[in-house]
Amino acid sequence: MYTLSTKDEKLGPIMSRNFDIAVFEGDGIGPEITQPAVAILQKLADSAAGYDLTLTAHPAGAAHYAKTGESLPQASLDAAGQADAILLSAMGLPDVRYDDGTEISPQIDLRKAFNLFAGVRPVRVAAGQRTPLKIPDGREIDFVLIRESTEGLFYSQGTGTVTQDDARETLRITRDVSEKLFRFAFQLATDRKARGLGPGRVTCVDKANVFRAFAFFRSIFDAEAKAYPDLIADHAYVDATALWMVQKPWDFDVLVTENMFGDILSDLGAGLMGGLGVAPSADIGLEQAVFQPCHGSAPDIAGQGKANPMAMILSAAMMLEWLGLKHEVPEMCGDGARLRAAVEGVMAEGKTVTADLGGQASTAETGAAVMAAL
Ligand code: NAD
Repeated sequence: MYTLSTKDEKLGPIMSRNFDIAVFEGDGIGPEITQPAVAILQKLADSAAGYDLTLTAHPAGAAHYAKTGESLPQASLDAAGQADAILLSAMGLPDVRYDDGTEISPQIDLRKAFNLFAGVRPVRVAAGQRTPLKIPDGREIDFVLIRESTEGLFYSQGTGTVTQDDARETLRITRDVSEKLFRFAFQLATDRKARGLGPGRVTCVDKANVFRAFAFFRSIFDAEAKAYPDLIADHAYVDATALWMVQKPWDFDVLVTENMFGDILSDLGAGLMGGLGVAPSADIGLEQAVFQPCHGSAPDIAGQGKANPMAMILSAAMMLEWLGLKHEVPEMCGDGARLRAAVEGVMAEGKTVTADLGGQASTAETGAAVMAAL
């Protein structure tokens, strides 16, 4: 456990607003990538006039479960609930499992505990990222995939039934969560359009041609779309979406989909960006939010200083922007944007990047390069 206050107590009363951040260092490469992200956040807050951060680490994860028999202690859950935001690296280790054969995944428990229904996965390719696609002149890949994160096919996680000859899981889609999800998607598209980032288009990704649950999902989407006449609202089947994400991803603006479909498509999105090491994410609810990279704990490279910290740092940038918007602290939004620009600058230069981006830098050197760019 550590607590980092970003302002020197000796400086006297702090006039800026303080935000408590619950930090989960997680498993595998988690602690390695958390370290530079926390150092950068601390540095930004140190220099900021309008806000302060107190970052506090809490135990949870597969290694903690192996040691104590608890994957997400109640005290950690309570602290996360009381914090202003949650910064999480990655949790889970393939060899640490519950008796039913499934893995420890407190990151999913947090989504459910705090109703973090909107999984925001930006898919953006900047210079220096190793996209496998050839992007035509005048086009760019910059869209956002929103994955519902509390129900869908993940609804029955841990309660599916398995007999000798039959296994069943239940997909659940509710009107309440879907309405909130679609409103979030339309508001995000409105915001992106106002900032010149997209045409103002929301695509509902489903399988309404086969499943009643998805026809229901789509009907709720269509009803919500009526409140946003200035936006384009359309539909796509998930299988075709996978194809178009490879063939013409520059056509997308905001995609919104069910939990399992979003789980799979967000890794495809990370592939378009040049790998999991550069793909950030946020799981956002009405009150609370978790910011974490799309990737897992990468046990194959853990402890070697090879992990790319950029996805974690970009997730921290998203956190600053979310807090800044929510609490009306423009300086935080500005710092979030500055941090993303610093990461993109280091990747574009290509000198201090990790092996997954074709470089030789260590995790710590990459973090230091972002700090220097700031
Ligand atoms: P993974 O994302 O950990 O790794 C997949 C591949 O990407 C590996 O080759 C890994 O070395 C590489 N990679 C991932 N992050 C990287 C980074 N920052 N820099 C460089 N390379 C990186 O997926 P996995 O191997 O399927 O899962 C490992 C563990 O993580 C499992 O226990 C899984 O359950 C867990 N997991 C957790 C989360 C989460 O916390 N949100 C997400 C996915 C998987």
